[in-house]
Amino acid sequence: MKKREKKEKIPRFPDWVPDGGGDAFTTRVLKGKRIADVKKERENFEKKNFPSKNDFIKGIRENNKTLLSKAITLVESNNEKYYSFGREILEELGFYNEGSIRIAISGPPGAGKSTFIEKLGMFLIRSGHKVAVLAVDPSSTLSKGSILGDKTRMEELAREKNCFIRPSPSGGNLGGVTRKSRETIMLLEAAGYDVILIETVGVGQSETAVRWMVDFFLLLLYPGGGDELQGVKRGIMEIADIIVINKADGNNRKKAEQAKRNFENALHYLLPFTKGWKRKVLLASAVNGEGVENIWEIIEYFKNQGRKSGELLRFRKEQSFKWTIELIENFLKESFFSNEKIEKFLPGIKDKVRSGKMLPTTAAEKLLSVFFSDYNKFVDRESSI
Ligand code: GDP
Repeated sequence: MKKREKKEKIPRFPDWVPDGGGDAFTTRVLKGKRIADVKKERENFEKKNFPSKNDFIKGIRENNKTLLSKAITLVESNNEKYYSFGREILEELGFYNEGSIRIAISGPPGAGKSTFIEKLGMFLIRSGHKVAVLAVDPSSTLSKGSILGDKTRMEELAREKNCFIRPSPSGGNLGGVTRKSRETIMLLEAAGYDVILIETVGVGQSETAVRWMVDFFLLLLYPGGGDELQGVKRGIMEIADIIVINKADGNNRKKAEQAKRNFENALHYLLPFTKGWKRKVLLASAVNGEGVENIWEIIEYFKNQGRKSGELLRFRKEQSFKWTIELIENFLKESFFSNEKIEKFLPGIKDKVRSGKMLPTTAAEKLLSVFFSDYNKFVDRESSI
């Protein structure tokens, strides 16, 4: 074996040593950089890694899924720089799409949501639609992983060219998740997706928030031991446009039929959520694909009826403005409670109110005047709306 030549060891000395420092220094001293320069370098680097706005627009219009995903990541970002770039793209694309239908599919875990979405999605794609599946799952931010919209759960659909599946964004709270999902919907519509399916798990507040993002709400349940009515909160029945009892097959068929009758009776006394619409209860077997086409016919009927009457558009306009107000409320609330002076004064005022030394109205007035005098210092000019 050839003997490896021993490399000559080159002694390394630092570029600079203090006077009389001797050989003890082993660190190479580098020239310092200003923080501002480092930031600029990073920004330039990031810019280089993004396609231009025009490339985004062109790509999204041509159904380039990679660019569409990147644009969604931008609008989902909590980083103001990325988010505003995402918003610019959205504004340029044009976000008003009356031709689409947004459908929520909600139900408890195990009801068969992903099985149902896969069957419905495949049927729609074969009928010439472009289908997007989004998950809205605020609980994912707690569990650090989404239980919804997982691509492996809808394998067949995920392979389709005209299908786009996106898992739930992590937003920290419900407001964050819905803000992101709303803008994602707009991007998807701009990219030509005309059926938007929004999967959400029945966990309290989230369905109500989702109801204000969609045109149609489908509640998916499965037959239990006959007490399913008690397990389903009245609130969720109120916002549903259709209730589908899934797994109406095999030994479950009879139980499903009974559940259907129970729900029909219960719904009798509820006012419809959508003006002019009569709620329906249907049976389905997602694994066998039974009932799926029939359900789609009902959704199409809902859409056509809503278009003719103008209800669909009216509701979308109402949603947009409600969203605007929600954003303002969230902003004000967050700014108020994170204001340094408020944080300082709040405990003292709380004590006074609790001990009956100060009226709640006086307390609120005092705190608000502190907040606004502090806040106004930062606002140096009037907004030019
Ligand atoms: P999800 O948690 O609501 O998305 O439910 P999945 O779609 O993952 O379904 C949960 C389980 O129920 C799976 O094992 C499915 O195969 C099964 N399942 C779904 N739909 C049906 C159905 O129509 N009939 C029967 N018998 N099982 C079903």
